[in-house]
Amino acid sequence: MNSENDTICAIATGTGSAGIGIVRLSGPESVAIADGLFRGKRRIRDLKSYTAAYGQLVRQTEGKEELLDEVVVLVMRAPHTYTTEDVVELSCHGGPLVLKRVLSAVMQAGARMAEPGEFTKRAFLGGRIDLSEAEAVMDVIASGNERALDASLQQLRGGLSKEISGLREKILYETAYIESALDDPENYSLENYPEHLRPLLSDWNDRIGKFLSSVNEGRLMREGIRTAIVGRPNAGKSSILNLLLGEERAIVTEIEGTTRDTLEESAVIGGVQLVLVDTAGIRETGDVVEQIGVKRAREAADTADLILLVVDAAKALSTEEEQLLYDLAEQDRLGETGGNAPLILLLNKNDLDTVITKEETEKALENAGIRREYRILEISAATGNGKTELAEAVQSLFFSGKLEDSQERYLLNSRHEEALSEARAALGRVRESLDAGVGEDFYTIDLMAAYEALGKIIGETLEDDLADKIFREFCMGK
Ligand code: GDP
Repeated sequence: MNSENDTICAIATGTGSAGIGIVRLSGPESVAIADGLFRGKRRIRDLKSYTAAYGQLVRQTEGKEELLDEVVVLVMRAPHTYTTEDVVELSCHGGPLVLKRVLSAVMQAGARMAEPGEFTKRAFLGGRIDLSEAEAVMDVIASGNERALDASLQQLRGGLSKEISGLREKILYETAYIESALDDPENYSLENYPEHLRPLLSDWNDRIGKFLSSVNEGRLMREGIRTAIVGRPNAGKSSILNLLLGEERAIVTEIEGTTRDTLEESAVIGGVQLVLVDTAGIRETGDVVEQIGVKRAREAADTADLILLVVDAAKALSTEEEQLLYDLAEQDRLGETGGNAPLILLLNKNDLDTVITKEETEKALENAGIRREYRILEISAATGNGKTELAEAVQSLFFSGKLEDSQERYLLNSRHEEALSEARAALGRVRESLDAGVGEDFYTIDLMAAYEALGKIIGETLEDDLADKIFREFCMGK
């Protein structure tokens, strides 16, 4: 059985070869274990917290001292460490074999292999970080774009925790007040209390609503915006794809139908990640109508978060392209799933003499009856002109505010969403009780339910095994 008092160890750095690799220890025996393996001018056990020593790691094999590696050892003493326990980091040479050997010596000396995320779990159990901050640790590591990184760093610094805790405090205060008034009516009055509570409820509800509305933003930040590039052959889809990828990854030729195998690629523009779906399909061949991509566009619109419709602005809009617009409009009208994906219509090849204007395109969209959000942009895949505007359009369609003013942006996940919805429902029941004019004791139960639900976000109210489940998703050594 693994115990929480064990001294744990893991290779904390990546698996490949690198300049440096770190074996990390945490727990009561960390310093003693490192001290036993270390040979240098100073003893590890004499080091002050946050100081390092240079020397060799050795182990006894068949009565002889075996050299393991030349290292720098960093000692961090409880409680001011990542885990709140004694932590030692052995900076070794970054080769897989040398790290494995050091790790096995550390284990021989009494440490046990850490489970994934166990260091962070100890930080949580030690009370140094709450659950939403622990999740942010993983999000920081997994961030694939600036925006996600920015938001997860905010969350790691406790931004979300502070807001949730503030809200909980207010709810708790009112609950305590009601309870006191019911116990001690001589000193606490509940006269006109519903009038006092009503505006508070609506304020809390708004705040929770604001968090909930950013859950989708969180998903788009974390996973990227699933983007379908559609349009007729030779409109410049591959060239736009290249422009987004920033290198010649898609093969552009004069011959139609050059296929590529890759199914999904991802590009970061303006700090936002686009996951380009079905990029191989860009070069699909088939019958003429299919080449225009009407069906494909419609299918893509079902699963994508964003549609980039590439049009050759040096040619008049074709009937097929108009048909495509009608198709998307029909999707809007029927309220089909894909109807939510905004459309960016790219008037490509604007380095040439163009025949389609923005105004005409706008009219075409109007005539077709497009209801979803859209933008029309002039661009040149050949010169890169218009790429910045494209980045801005994506930002404005998906994210409120610019990357710089990211003060209140967190990476909410479905676990947070569930807790927030639960809290909102509980507050809704309080309002119903107010409307029904029932006694105050009726709604303290629901106020407490909202309080508890919000507590799940930061891990104050912990359901069984929840923490374990979350930390299991972590990588080794973190
Ligand atoms: P796709 O069939 O939609 O993927 O179109 P391609 O990206 O293969 O482009 C078709 C042709 O148009 C190629 O010869 C490209 O070099 C050319 N092309 C694409 N974008 C531009 C552009 O912005 N300006 C100019 N002048 N030519 C372009």
